[in-house]
Amino acid sequence: MPERSESDSRKLLRRLRDMLAVPGKGQDRLDQITHLIADSMGTEVCSIYLFRDPETLELCATEGLRKESVHQTRMKLGEGLVGRVARTGQPVNTADAPSEKGFRFMPETGEEIYSSFLGVPIQRVGEKLGVLVVQSKVAREFSEDEIYALDVVAMVLAEMTELGAFTGDDGGIRALHKQPVMLRGTSGQEGAAEGRVWLHEPRVVITNPVADDPLTEIDRIRAAVGELRVSIDDLLEAQTLDKDQKQVLEAYRMFAQSRGWLRRMEEDIMRGLSAEAAVEKEQSAARARLEQVPDAYLRERLSDLDDLSNRLLRILTGQGKDTGAEMPENPVLVARNIGPAELLEYGRKLKAVVMDEGSVGSHAAVVARALAIPLVINTERITAEALNGDPILVDGDQGIVHLRPEETVARAFRDKIAMQAEAQKRYASLRGLPATATCGTTVALHMNAGLMADLPSLEGSGAEGVGLFRTELQFLVRSKMPQRAELARLYARVMDAAKGRRVAFRTLDIGSDKVLPYMKPQDEPNPAMGWRAVRVGLDKPGVLRMQLQALIRAANGRPLTIMFPLITELSEFQQARAHALRELHREKSLGHPVPEKLEIGAMLETPSLAFAPRAFFELTDFVSVGGNDLKQFFFAADRENELVRRRYDTLNLSFLTFLEGIVARCAQTGTPLSFCGEDAGRPIEALALAAIGFRTLSMRPASVGPVKALLRRVNLNDARAVIDRAKAEGAESARPFLMEWLSSHSE
Ligand code: PEP
Ligand code: MG
Repeated sequence: MPERSESDSRKLLRRLRDMLAVPGKGQDRLDQITHLIADSMGTEVCSIYLFRDPETLELCATEGLRKESVHQTRMKLGEGLVGRVARTGQPVNTADAPSEKGFRFMPETGEEIYSSFLGVPIQRVGEKLGVLVVQSKVAREFSEDEIYALDVVAMVLAEMTELGAFTGDDGGIRALHKQPVMLRGTSGQEGAAEGRVWLHEPRVVITNPVADDPLTEIDRIRAAVGELRVSIDDLLEAQTLDKDQKQVLEAYRMFAQSRGWLRRMEEDIMRGLSAEAAVEKEQSAARARLEQVPDAYLRERLSDLDDLSNRLLRILTGQGKDTGAEMPENPVLVARNIGPAELLEYGRKLKAVVMDEGSVGSHAAVVARALAIPLVINTERITAEALNGDPILVDGDQGIVHLRPEETVARAFRDKIAMQAEAQKRYASLRGLPATATCGTTVALHMNAGLMADLPSLEGSGAEGVGLFRTELQFLVRSKMPQRAELARLYARVMDAAKGRRVAFRTLDIGSDKVLPYMKPQDEPNPAMGWRAVRVGLDKPGVLRMQLQALIRAANGRPLTIMFPLITELSEFQQARAHALRELHREKSLGHPVPEKLEIGAMLETPSLAFAPRAFFELTDFVSVGGNDLKQFFFAADRENELVRRRYDTLNLSFLTFLEGIVARCAQTGTPLSFCGEDAGRPIEALALAAIGFRTLSMRPASVGPVKALLRRVNLNDARAVIDRAKAEGAESARPFLMEWLSSHSE
């Protein structure tokens, strides 16, 4: 890199910094900056375009274009050359702007006389802020050094924008992290909450983007990279890592050792940036590249680089994860993504969780559901927008988040929360009462659980017992396979907390979406229909047997209920049951107390089991319909796939007719039957299930109240007649019929 431009850009940065050090109004500063850049770079024009909203750029200051067009000229993201720079995050450099593809002529600016154009993005990691442009009359392409210099200046502008250097009452410039933002994501768990942002990984704030002494900065960055390398080596050595974790860390190490990375950062420093700003500049560039890369593998590698940059920034700034900030009251956790164990550590003190990434079936989502915390996922940019302590409203029903909401929005939202709280109060008054319909039929309502943390809800919700205890959560939140004694202690605590009420422990349901961090994931073309649940338990019985032993020991003579997931045919149930009985005998022969009563049941989650021989229904102590899986297999619609997961209605009469068949088969053999999928917790669905003959439903604790309230005010025979009428009329779904009946039937 030539010495001349090196010192030029440093000089420019220093002038910029000195200018910014003097207190001034936002608009004045922007005007001065455009003047200073045009002057230093010897161009007739310098303009700054900033985002007005995520889709619109606005000319906020200019040297050389008509002043009247400031705050008047606007363009959409992707429109014209400026819009192209903003969209792609890449510079545009042309000697003949008007003939460039996508050029948009803006007569109000008077720019038609300028032939050459150089635009670079003003961006901060993960956040597009605007575009910095220089133009001149002479038709020439800008040199590599000039592009570089402008890029470095843009980087500093981004930092200053972030620090609020250009906001004020005067210019109408977007105040970062101050305006209300509404973000749309996907609902991961229903419920509404109001609180304050608590960032899982706080943003690193850079207060010194420009540095005087490049040699000191180079020493700093080398020392920090050295520290980073050592920390990765330590990680690689110290931990018992599996192959995949090792691979990720090896990739980290490769980047940390990459000369190109350090060299580019050193070059940035020689241009006048501080070590921190240099890291961030490279990180922004990597992010911009990330957005353009279609290849998933490469994208993952680039995101490794992103993580590494974050670590490096934390070393340089001394801003660890723990910034000393106090967690606000009513914290709403905001994260790019989070592991299940970390989420569990926060526990129930969180009001809600919002994640930029994640999927409905991710482990974190499973934990959020178990904790009954509203969860919104896939918001894409909340971590770039939110600051610790920002007011936030989370609507888990709609998958919407309001950050720094307007008072009117907040008020409407509070009404919604108040209404829900009011309803909860009403439900609480029903707590001690049975879910007896007006026809005299009583439906037993149980709750689903999966964590110790769920158990307090047993008292509060009014549930009679735990109809489904998902044991895999205990396995998912650990970094290694739990030991038998540890599990036995935990199951014993669950039974203690249930105070004699029945808890149906479901044996490990892993595979499909639930992959244990310490087990080798299988590369299966269709995991939901693959090697999962009881299939894994029967093929590799070690863990299953250990779990059965732990359950028997935990019972310590008390009654015990076990159920096996995804039983598909009679012989599978026979084998699974035989394992349980074998362990029972083994425990007895070892002199351990055996449960005074042992129930062994099967989850009906595949249509095939509904047609199993009578011997199955005679052998099993009970059948529990796992509606989530059963529905996905009945309709051939992946429960994790947003495109199809809501496509088919549970009240579709084909499905209800199929469920009626299950009720009839269980009735023939007197086999107790329950339903424990999510649908059991939706009042209208629960009503339909009760109407067709289900007498036990198991659901989220928060659903017990609403379901009970509805069941207590209806006649199930009448509801059954409504469903039969829908069938007789050849309808597709019973829903409109039940809805109409309910509305004409309300008190
Ligand atoms: C189900 O499939 O309905 C069920 C209750 O189990 P899970 O949701 O854990 O698969
Ligand atoms: Mg299931």
